Amino acid sequence: MDISIVIPLYNEEESLPELADWIREVMNNHNFSYEIIMIDDGSKDRSWQVIQELQRSNSNIKGIKFRRNYGKSAALYTGFDLVKGDVVITMDADLQDSPDEIPGLYKMIQENGYDLVSGWKKKRKDPVLTKNLPSKFYNWTARIITGIKIHDMNCGLKAYRKNVVKSIEVYGEMHRYIPVLAKWAGYNNIGEKVVEHSERKYGVTKFGVERFIRGPLDLLSVIFISRFVKRPMHFFGVLGIIMIIVGLAAAIYLGVEKIIQLKAGIVGNLITNSPYFYIALTSMIIGAQFFLAGFLGELISRSSTDRNKYQIDEKTF
Ligand code: UDP
Ligand code: MG
Repeated sequence: MDISIVIPLYNEEESLPELADWIREVMNNHNFSYEIIMIDDGSKDRSWQVIQELQRSNSNIKGIKFRRNYGKSAALYTGFDLVKGDVVITMDADLQDSPDEIPGLYKMIQENGYDLVSGWKKKRKDPVLTKNLPSKFYNWTARIITGIKIHDMNCGLKAYRKNVVKSIEVYGEMHRYIPVLAKWAGYNNIGEKVVEHSERKYGVTKFGVERFIRGPLDLLSVIFISRFVKRPMHFFGVLGIIMIIVGLAAAIYLGVEKIIQLKAGIVGNLITNSPYFYIALTSMIIGAQFFLAGFLGELISRSSTDRNKYQIDEKTF
């Protein structure tokens, strides 16, 4: 099979028929063998009935229905688990992403050797203040932190080589950072392609203000997990050592000062009156706690079942 198209959807009943027809037309024009995996993420409208109806007239469509709304990442994860095509395309169900882009994306994976190609909504048709500007800022931050030079990390329209989606684990709100996950799974050939973007035709956006909180937190988790999950002590240990050195320095300063004062005959000056006393106290306690967190982290990662799971690229046997 050439292409698997994974479509996560939540309350998108109006868009689905148009989307399915459009995809079928593009696939037939290019003679691709394909499957469309539609994941109904617990919709409350008629989306599931619509999927079932569509499937009757197009056997390439496969539907999955979640019992409740788990989120876009969960839907993608479930879809990725099932895909059979050599190239996997993800796209939103709301007709903002155009199926006409699929052949171009397919070509970049199959002929130009990319592992992952992310769409870039260069002319984005979303509300400027609530979507476009915050997203520019996000992408700028993510580019700096992750070193992946793409402009539109969270574009719903992406293409992957099949191995890529089989070796990453998307959860929480991490669909925003799939290129980061792919990079840390060892896929370095990440590209982007400018894609058409349209206004939402039906329905409303499914991501409200909560994405401003969850997005950055998940970026932190992504970074932390990919860098330190197998060696928590390297993170907490360093912090612990820094805090303890600061505390010790403050304590030594206090001691030396006291001795000098005693030699000079000054007696009434309590060390608890000095700010250094509190600096010493708090940094040592916090330092010890960082250390403890590091140790606990080490113990947990030692007993985790996938502690020695590595991505093997090729074998000669
Ligand atoms: N979506 C989903 N589960 C959710 C939220 C969204 O499957 O909990 C789907 C949604 O139906 C759409 C895609 O994710 O197909 C992108 O959502 P949306 O268009 O609302 O995001 P926006 O384009 O506004 O960023
Ligand atoms: Mg949308």
